[in-house]
Amino acid sequence: MADDDGLFLNLGAGAGPARTVVPANLRPKGGRWKDRMAERQLLKSAVWQAQRKSKAQQGARPAASSAQKSERPAAQAPVDADGGASARQRPRERSGATGPGSKQVMSSLFTKNPEIPTVARTGDQENRVSSNAVLDTSSFEGIGLDDDMRASVAEKMGIVKPTAIQQNAIPVLIGKPILGGAAAAAGGGDAFDVEREVSVEHDVFIQAATGSGKTLAYLLPIFHRLIRATALATSGAPASRSLGTFAIVLTPTRELAQQVVETALPLSHSAGRNSGWIVPGMVIGGEKKQSEKSRLRKGIPLLACTPGRLLDHLENTKSFVVDHLRWLVLDEADRLLELGFAETLEKILALLDEKARNKVRVLGHRSVATSLELPRRRINVLCSATLRDNVKRLANESLHNPKFVSATSIHDSADQAASTATGDSDTEMAAPAPAPDAGAGGDRYSLPSQLVQRALIVPAKLRLVTLVAQLRNTFRRQPASKVIVFLLCKDSVDFMYFLLAHGGAEAAATADGKAYADDLFDALGDDGAPAKPSALPGKSGPTLREEDISLESSVVPGVDLYRLHGSMAQKRRTETFLAFSRAQSASVLFTTDVAARGLDLPNVTSIVQFDPPADIPSYLHRVGRTARLGRAGEASLFLLPSETKYLDALAAKGLRPDDETMESVLKQMAKNTGARKAVEWQLRAGEVQSRLEQFVLSSATASGLAKQAYLSSIRAYATHVSAERHIFHVRFLHFGHLAKAFALREAPTQVASGKGNNTKADDARKDRKDRRDQEQAARKKPTFKRANDISEFAVGDVGAYFGPRAKRTRDAGSDSDA
Ligand code: AMP
Repeated sequence: MADDDGLFLNLGAGAGPARTVVPANLRPKGGRWKDRMAERQLLKSAVWQAQRKSKAQQGARPAASSAQKSERPAAQAPVDADGGASARQRPRERSGATGPGSKQVMSSLFTKNPEIPTVARTGDQENRVSSNAVLDTSSFEGIGLDDDMRASVAEKMGIVKPTAIQQNAIPVLIGKPILGGAAAAAGGGDAFDVEREVSVEHDVFIQAATGSGKTLAYLLPIFHRLIRATALATSGAPASRSLGTFAIVLTPTRELAQQVVETALPLSHSAGRNSGWIVPGMVIGGEKKQSEKSRLRKGIPLLACTPGRLLDHLENTKSFVVDHLRWLVLDEADRLLELGFAETLEKILALLDEKARNKVRVLGHRSVATSLELPRRRINVLCSATLRDNVKRLANESLHNPKFVSATSIHDSADQAASTATGDSDTEMAAPAPAPDAGAGGDRYSLPSQLVQRALIVPAKLRLVTLVAQLRNTFRRQPASKVIVFLLCKDSVDFMYFLLAHGGAEAAATADGKAYADDLFDALGDDGAPAKPSALPGKSGPTLREEDISLESSVVPGVDLYRLHGSMAQKRRTETFLAFSRAQSASVLFTTDVAARGLDLPNVTSIVQFDPPADIPSYLHRVGRTARLGRAGEASLFLLPSETKYLDALAAKGLRPDDETMESVLKQMAKNTGARKAVEWQLRAGEVQSRLEQFVLSSATASGLAKQAYLSSIRAYATHVSAERHIFHVRFLHFGHLAKAFALREAPTQVASGKGNNTKADDARKDRKDRRDQEQAARKKPTFKRANDISEFAVGDVGAYFGPRAKRTRDAGSDSDA
C-alpha cells in the first residue's frame, strides 16, 4: 500500500503569476462562510506551494518544453519510496504550513468542537490469553461420534477436536452415556453425571452463542443418528429424500439459514452411501414459493428455514412431508423472540404436534423411518445465548423433560443452569447471574478475554476522517485484516460504501471518464490559472450499482468493500455474505445490525462500531463477530463527546473498553502518509475531509446518498432504547457538525431544501429552525413509513416510536422473511 495514495491534495502547476489565486472552478462552494474561507485558504496555500515548486523546477530545467510541462511529471508521478520527491510527497509544503506568510492553515474541522472528556484508561487488556479456545482435553471419539463422520469432519472441515459446548451437547443429543466431556472435566455443581444413562427422550436447551461451535453441536448428532439408522436399516422403504424432512432448523434470518446449510453440506457426504440422501436445503422466502414447493416435493431431509415461510409451507404445501420429523431446532431463540416470532413459533409447534398425532403409524423398527437409532419422538432443541425470561418461557412451553447444556455444565432446570452460567468459557455472552432477567440491574456479561475493546470519543465533525484514519491504520498494521463497520441505517451503509469506494482522488471517475485527481490538476492549468470549466469534475460519475458485490476502495487502497443490509435483494445479500465470508484478503463490510447476530463470518479481525449499538446486547453481538474460537480480535466504538456516559452504562455490565484518542488515530494516519512533523496531523485530516467533501460535491450520486444517509441517521438515532435516551438523544446532536460526518458542506436546512444560503444570520436562523424541526420530528408519534427508513436498526424499544415491534419487523422487511 502506498504511503500517499492520492487522498491528500494533489496540486501542482507550472510557472504562474506572482499572486496566489485559487482557480474559480476550485473554490469551495456551499456550507458556511467560515468553512469556505478556511477551505479556500488551504487550497490557496497548496496552489502557492505548487507554484513555488514549479518555479524552482523551472530554475533547474530552464529549457523544459511546453510539451514536457504539460506532462507535469512531478505532480502526477506516483509516490516515491523515500516519501519526498514530488509535490504530493512534501506534506509540509503541501499542507500549507509554509504557505504565504508562513501562516499555518488550520482546517475548520478542529474549531468549535465540544470538549472531549478524559476517560480513564483501563489498561487491563494487555497480554490476553484466549478464553474461548477449542479445548483439547477431549475428542470426538470420546464423545461417541461415528468414525466415518469424524474422519470426514477432520478432512473436509479441518475440525479435529470438539469445542466445550460440543463436548457437552453432543452426548446428550446422541442419547448415549459417554465418559468424559467438558462438564465432567469442570466438575461443577450437579453437572452431568457421566455414569448415568441419558434418555434419548430429552429435549435440549443449548446455551451458547455463535462462535462457540453450536451449529455443529446439534448438526453432528443429527447426522450421526441418521447415518446409523441408514446403516442398520434392513427393511422398509430405502433411505431417500422422498421420506421427507427429518430435521428442521429454524433461524431468525435468511443468512443464518444459509449458514446452517453450508455447515451441513460437507456432513451429507460424510459416510459414503449412508449419508448421501441426507440433503440439506432451505426455504427462506425471497424466492418464488413455487420453486420452494417443488424442492419440498423432492424432499429435504434437513431443512433450514425462517419462521414465516415454514409456517406458510406447513399450512399450505401438501407435498411437504413431516411424518418422520425427529428434530426441531430453534436456533438463536432469543433473536427469534426479539423479532416478534413468538406467535409464529407457537403456531408452528402446535401444527407439528397435530401432524405428529395424525400421522399414519408404521410398525416395525427396521426401516430408517422407524429405526430405534432415531429418537422415538420429535426432539426439540432450543439454542440461545441468553437465559432471559422470555427465552425461559419459550423453553418451558416447547421443551419436554429438557437438559440445559452450556459449555461448562449440564442441568435439569433453567434455574440451576442460570446459577452457574457466568464465566462460560466459550460463549460470547454468558447468561446473567444470579437473576438472569432482561434488564435486571445486576446483569453482567463476559466476552472472550483476548478481545481488545476500545472506545474513541470523536466530535461529530471529525467522525468521518477519523473512520478513514482508523481503517487506513488498521490495514497498514495488518494488511490482510477483515473489518466489519456497523452503521445505524441502510442509507449510511450505502453512502459509506460508495464514498470509500470512489471518494479517493485517484480512482473517482467523473462524467467525462477522467480521474478526479487529473481533473483537479487540469483545473489549475499549466500556468496555475483556472482552466476551462469542462475540465471540472462532472456532476455525475460513478453510480451505486446493485450488481456490484464488492468495490475496490480508493480511499483505503488495496481493500475490497462490501455492504449488507435488509433492503438489498435477497440474492445480493446471500452473494455478499458468501463473498465476504470467503474473502481472504483485505476487506471491509459496511452493515447494519443485520450482520450483528448469529452470522459466522470467519476470520474477522476488527469490528468498528461507527454508530453506537441500539442496546447493550447489540454491543455484545456486534463485537462477538470477532475473536472467535480463541483467535485475536479488536473492536472499537465511536462515541460523540455527548455520548461519553455510555461508557458508564457499559462498565455497569462489566464491559470496559480501553480509551483510544482520536488524536492518536489521526496522528498515526499522518505519520503513515509521510508527515514529518507532529503538527501536520490536523492539516492531513483537513485534506482528507476536504477531498471527500469535494467528491461529494462533484458526484450527483454521492451527494444524493450523503443527504439521504444524513437524514436517515438522525431519524434512526431517535430510536435508541428509552433506557439510554438520556445519553443518545437527538437534542444533543449538532446537526451542522454532523453534516461533516457525511462529507456535506451544506447546513441541514439546505440539505432538505436543496437551496443555497445567503448570510450568516440566515444560516443561524435556519440552523435553529432545523434543530427545532428535527426535535419535533423525533418526538412526533411515528408512522410505519418511517420504520422502513430505519430498517433493522431498531432492535430495542422501538415500540415507543414505531408501534408494535412484531408488526414493524415485518413491515420493515429487514432481516427475516415472514
Ligand atoms: P458456530 O458457533 O456454529 O457459528 O461456529 C463458529 C465457527 O466455528 C464455524 O466456522 C465452525 O466451522 C467452527 N467450528 C465449529 N466447531 C469447531 C471445532 N470443534 N473446532 C474448530 N472450529 C469449529
